[in-house]
Amino acid sequence: MNIVLMGPPGCGKGTQAQRLEKRYGMVHLSTGDILRAAAAAGTEAGLRAKAILDRGDLVPDDMVVGIIVERIEDAEIREKGFILDGFPRTVVQAEKLDDVLSEKRIDIHHIIEMRVDEAALFARIERRAQESAGARADDNAETLKKRIVVYREQTAPILPYYARSGRLETVDGMAEIDDVTTQLGAILENSPQAKRTAD
Ligand code: AMP
Repeated sequence: MNIVLMGPPGCGKGTQAQRLEKRYGMVHLSTGDILRAAAAAGTEAGLRAKAILDRGDLVPDDMVVGIIVERIEDAEIREKGFILDGFPRTVVQAEKLDDVLSEKRIDIHHIIEMRVDEAALFARIERRAQESAGARADDNAETLKKRIVVYREQTAPILPYYARSGRLETVDGMAEIDDVTTQLGAILENSPQAKRTAD
């Protein structure tokens, strides 16, 4: 089963994707994790990406599309399925993804938005910055807020793109973590492709 998880930074996508990976056996593909690993490895592309990540901006579409295309062609991932976390992040990426998948005859079975209240996300960031006071915490809080604004401006427009073709499903991302997992599980288990591998 192949799924896309959508939602702003800080909504808990990564945590839920890990849980779904464990329970259903698909491979969790986080473009953020892949870019951070490239930055840590010090590759040329990784270092270029790092400066952009640190600012809270998006890396160029071609860079992430290339990364994702390479992964979804991988034989193991074709067999196990994937959970996309952090991709697509622009309408261009969403369109490219559709093109590549239709060319390779790969289906996406669920596109799920974890809907959260932006004001609550901002409040959470402020609270955490105050709890760990200091110059770094403020820096961090500013970058996090910037990433939420980037989500609103560049990523949220993908939602109507998917909704128009009737492909968007939604869960309440403001619920407790376990409850969000239950909501996601209900969507996936209602699907002919569901294949639970663990509790
Ligand atoms: P994440 O861990 O998904 O929040 O991503 C961390 C950072 O990686 C983002 O703030 C972007 O700078 C970059 N990034 C991750 N995925 C993408 C993407 N699909 N398109 C552009 N930039 C991305």
